[in-house]
Amino acid sequence: MNVILFGPPAAGKGTQAKRLVETRKMVQLSTGDMLRAAIASGSELGKRVSGIMERGELVSDGIVIELIEQRLPEAEAAGGAIFDGFPRTLAQAEALDQMLERRGSRIDLVIRLKVDDEALMKRVAGRFAESGRPDDNPDSFKVRLNAYNAQTAPLLPYYQAQKNLLEVDGMGSIEAVAAAIDEALDAPRG
Ligand code: AMP
Repeated sequence: MNVILFGPPAAGKGTQAKRLVETRKMVQLSTGDMLRAAIASGSELGKRVSGIMERGELVSDGIVIELIEQRLPEAEAAGGAIFDGFPRTLAQAEALDQMLERRGSRIDLVIRLKVDDEALMKRVAGRFAESGRPDDNPDSFKVRLNAYNAQTAPLLPYYQAQKNLLEVDGMGSIEAVAAAIDEALDAPRG
């Protein structure tokens, strides 16, 4: 089963994806994690994207599409992928559908975590203080939130049209959100 965890930055996608890796042995495909690993390794790719990421802007579609394509066989072997932070643009969503179709597969479910902007700002301020992740600083976070609203939120009608979009209240505790996600994953689908 292939699932997209969809939502603004700091909505809890990574936390919930990691839990699903533990409980359901799915593979988490987080383009943000892949890009941070590239930066940490000092690779050419890392050098190309570090400034863009630090400012909170989106890296180019071609880069993230290729990163995802390289990892699809591994996710397939495990029985499913949780896409976390991908797709973020319509071009990425279309490319993902095409890549999966070529492999005889598809997106089964898109789970949208709904969290209001004020709560996101609060969360990320705490996270910045704790982890010091450079793009969690208030200025970059604003850019990331704007990128979500301008480029990523418009994907919702795309998935709504495919009839596989489910909304989950992302404002509750980690456990409450996890329970709602489990219910969505276990519900019978037509
Ligand atoms: P994330 O960890 O998902 O919040 O991603 C951190 C940063 O990595 C984003 O602000 C972007 O700069 C970059 N990034 C991650 N995934 C994507 C994507 N699918 N498309 C474009 N940029 C991305």
